[in-house]
Amino acid sequence: MPTQQTLFTPSTSVKHPNLTTSRLWIPKQVLFTPDALEEPFGQQIYERISTLGLPINILKSNRLTGLRGADERETYRNAKNTLAVVKAPPGAFRLQPIPPSADWQMNLAEGCPAHCQYCYLAGSLHGPPVTRVYANLPQMLANAAAYEQVGKVTTFEVSCYTDVIGIEHLTGSLAECVSYFGSRPDAQLRFVTKYDQVESLLELPHNGRTRARVSLNAELIARRLEGGTASVEARLQALRKLALSREQGGGEYPVGVVLAPIMPIIDWRVHYTDLLDRLADTLDFDCDLTVEFITHRFTAGSKEVLLGWYPNTSLDLDEFSRSQKRNKFGGVKYVYEPDEMKTLRSFFYAEWRKRFPRAPILYWT
Ligand code: SF4
Repeated sequence: MPTQQTLFTPSTSVKHPNLTTSRLWIPKQVLFTPDALEEPFGQQIYERISTLGLPINILKSNRLTGLRGADERETYRNAKNTLAVVKAPPGAFRLQPIPPSADWQMNLAEGCPAHCQYCYLAGSLHGPPVTRVYANLPQMLANAAAYEQVGKVTTFEVSCYTDVIGIEHLTGSLAECVSYFGSRPDAQLRFVTKYDQVESLLELPHNGRTRARVSLNAELIARRLEGGTASVEARLQALRKLALSREQGGGEYPVGVVLAPIMPIIDWRVHYTDLLDRLADTLDFDCDLTVEFITHRFTAGSKEVLLGWYPNTSLDLDEFSRSQKRNKFGGVKYVYEPDEMKTLRSFFYAEWRKRFPRAPILYWT
């Protein structure tokens, strides 16, 4: 099977890091729109940000302006250092299905403080990649109730457009969601993160109705491509805390691993074996665990945006070594060749089942 040539030099030695945590994201500016400040939840965020002593700018209108820099790089830097608290537009109340991850996606924010060079948001955000947090979250949660179906557990994914833990210290939005879904017997909240500040979630009344997942990758990939996030080790420890947490009168969080984006870098078997071994050492007790496997993919549009954001990336974005996958609207994604996919899939399924025979594999994509 061909291996990825553009990414990383050969190495069979896997260095384990110290337990360094993520740097907490501290935006250089926080913008509030007038509409956001009329919302009680927006005011709560305002209190939090004021307590933290961050520079606040209350805008005169509800439009975010003045974020463009002299070039693409400066615009990116300005945007990634900005948190904007806004009111979610009416479109955010029309939830979209998000198979195979969940029944519906519900976004509590759009934009992310991290700097992953393969970022899933590239090409899907409008304008500069500012992190926009929704001040009318309680209304959005009430709206989500209309999507629940009687007789089945309806799942809601809140991590499609942001890293919910990466911004939680500034917003409290995820805690609001976890507590809300704790009171919904026919629903499940799902989130995934590359950050590790989970302490504020440990005591919440989740009632087992939130599946808390961490996104993991081979050490080398995480170090080189996932800027601004927690180390793999810190994420593993966060997962352990969530799986062991004991809310009052309840139990531990159901947890999960999203292994993504899987890349056949040189010596990939060595690197991913090391990751799975470390995960097994971390979760050395019975817990409600699932896994999702997602291979790397990109589109022509996301490639263009990513190369604007990360012009020197070592990420493999070569269309000619990939297969094309079309969606029902005619859009093309570049995925690994079928034989390569098969080899990867067999490896991950076998290695997962060996270590976690009772933890379901939810999907491979
Ligand atoms: S954590 Fe997710 S959303 Fe944030 S930069 Fe990385 S890939 Fe993008």
